Amino acid sequence: REFIFAGQINGTSGYEEAAAQGFIAGVNAAQKIMNEPPLILTRDNSYIGVLVDDLLTKDLIEPYRMYTSRAEYRLVLRSDNADIRLSKFGNDIGLITDEQYRRVVKREKEIDRLISKLKASSLNPDRGNNIILEKMGTKPIYTPLSIYKLLKRPEVNISGVIDFTGDKRNDYDRKILKQAEIKIKYEGYISRQLSEIKKLESLEKYYLSRDLNYFKIVGLTYEAQEKLTKIKPNTLGQASRIAGISPADISILMLNLKGKPEAGV
Ligand SMILES: Cc1cc2nc3c(=O)[nH]c(=O)nc-3n(C[C@H](O)[C@H](O)[C@H](O)COP(=O)(O)OP(=O)(O)OC[C@H]3O[C@@H](n4cnc5c(N)ncnc54)[C@H](O)[C@@H]3O)c2cc1C
Repeated sequence: REFIFAGQINGTSGYEEAAAQGFIAGVNAAQKIMNEPPLILTRDNSYIGVLVDDLLTKDLIEPYRMYTSRAEYRLVLRSDNADIRLSKFGNDIGLITDEQYRRVVKREKEIDRLISKLKASSLNPDRGNNIILEKMGTKPIYTPLSIYKLLKRPEVNISGVIDFTGDKRNDYDRKILKQAEIKIKYEGYISRQLSEIKKLESLEKYYLSRDLNYFKIVGLTYEAQEKLTKIKPNTLGQASRIAGISPADISILMLNLKGKPEAGV
């Protein structure tokens, strides 16, 4: 038997903060009763993941509120892609039907297909095209340019250039156009965050047993031993975010891991 706490009893303030924790607590109570694995959301896929991780790893000295600035991957955690990020989890725990999930996957594929099409279609630098560009308030072109690259110009929007691909604006759902546009315009920043997420994932693959006796691990500072014992992080990634845990402590933990990622300690 165990209690699962949610809301301000955990040190938060706010309606959404309480509701988010209540949701996770409720889902995981049900998962436990059904002997199913817990739903664990992470910093790189959701604000709920950031909230739970912060509550577990940070030294909180005042009521915790969920600000967007707390998420290091906020370019990826957008409201427009929430269903693409999270429907898989919803489907796994039975909150989203297979049909609903299929629709989300289909939309994701359509976005990728549209982006490929915009990359493959290019605009010739002829007079007619340059008049259209001028009307859009953007500079003329002197060499062929892909629609994809044209869209990176801040003053150009996807509705204005979709005709150049041979398709019509009405051929696409508004959400698909919007997401393709965001992905293209912010591609540089988004891919930088995605590569940081990949780096982080490597530490997240090292699982730490909840029964681990940190006081027996030679070389850890006393502060690290105390904090790790109190917080019992699930992964090396989570351990690395605990205030007071140094990179040296993480190296020592890694040395003590039996074998490779996922082997656990
Ligand atoms: C004046 C005020 C204004 C606020 N304004 C905002 C705002 O504008 N926006 C915002 O996001 N947040 C606001 N907050 C914060 C927000 O209300 C809380 O952080 C949030 O409601 C906490 O939800 P909770 O479920 O954790 O706790 P609560 O809503 O306090 O729920 C705890 C429940 O447990 C019950 N309970 C307590 N002891 C026992 C017991 N022994 N047995 C059984 N039941 C018990 C209580 O009766 C209560 O119903 C405000 C808070 C206050 C006080």
